[in-house]
Amino acid sequence: MENPTLKIIFAPEGALEIVNKAYRICYESEAKEKPGTREDFIKGFLRVKHESPIEHIGVIFELTGVSRACTQQIERHRIGSYNERSLRYVDATNIECVTPVGIEKNPEALKLYNQVVSKAKSTYKKLLELGVKKEDARACLPLSTTSHLLFTYNLRQIRHFLSERLSPRAQREVRLVATLMYQYMEDLYPWLVEDLADAYKAAVARNEEELK
Ligand SMILES: Cc1cc2nc3c(=O)[nH]c(=O)nc-3n(C[C@H](O)[C@H](O)[C@H](O)COP(=O)(O)OP(=O)(O)OC[C@H]3O[C@@H](n4cnc5c(N)ncnc54)[C@H](O)[C@@H]3O)c2cc1C
Repeated sequence: MENPTLKIIFAPEGALEIVNKAYRICYESEAKEKPGTREDFIKGFLRVKHESPIEHIGVIFELTGVSRACTQQIERHRIGSYNERSLRYVDATNIECVTPVGIEKNPEALKLYNQVVSKAKSTYKKLLELGVKKEDARACLPLSTTSHLLFTYNLRQIRHFLSERLSPRAQREVRLVATLMYQYMEDLYPWLVEDLADAYKAAVARNEEELK
């Protein structure tokens, strides 16, 4: 079953102060700030899509236990920096594959899938033994082969990623990543994602529905 692990490698402290400063500079209103109003002040701008001030804050994530199908979708987001384990250079003999829940809950499909994964792995191993380079042998590996990704998004891109990938229309595995990301953001920067709470709840409901 899909079971991504998302960790935060770096998330700056003082993000609220920096974002507030960026907005205040726009209106030369630093001197006019009233205590306790920062979060609502920022949320008001996010609602009207004045979002460039939140680009000043970057968060670094580490993602494991996801398929290449999932990392490919994440890497389609162009406003981010990525480093992924290379199958040109890393021996994939012992790298696991993800079994999508849609296959796992169908015994006949699962049997067929496991046969193909097993055959792909033994073929890969055999190709290496025959002297084929890893970068060529990887051609026989399934898209479900797990990967390891480090990526950096600024807060604006995090909001964009969440708005697309919490959707019930997003694929389950990437939606699970978005769900985890939302949870971190809700904890670290609640003012950033308050307006995405309904999307998060819909994602959680969809995640559970897919298990049935
Ligand atoms: C449910 C779902 C289904 C999908 N299905 C497919 C599919 O079948 N085939 C497929 O190829 N892709 C598919 N995608 C991927 C999708 O088309 C986007 O490539 C991906 O979601 C990245 O998002 P993005 O382009 O909005 O923004 P990002 O790349 O994350 O960039 C963020 C924002 O920056 C701006 N931006 C970035 N680059 C440009 C640019 N060159 N010009 C103008 N503005 C820019 C845009 O406002 C963009 O929204 C799917 C995505 C989802 C969520």
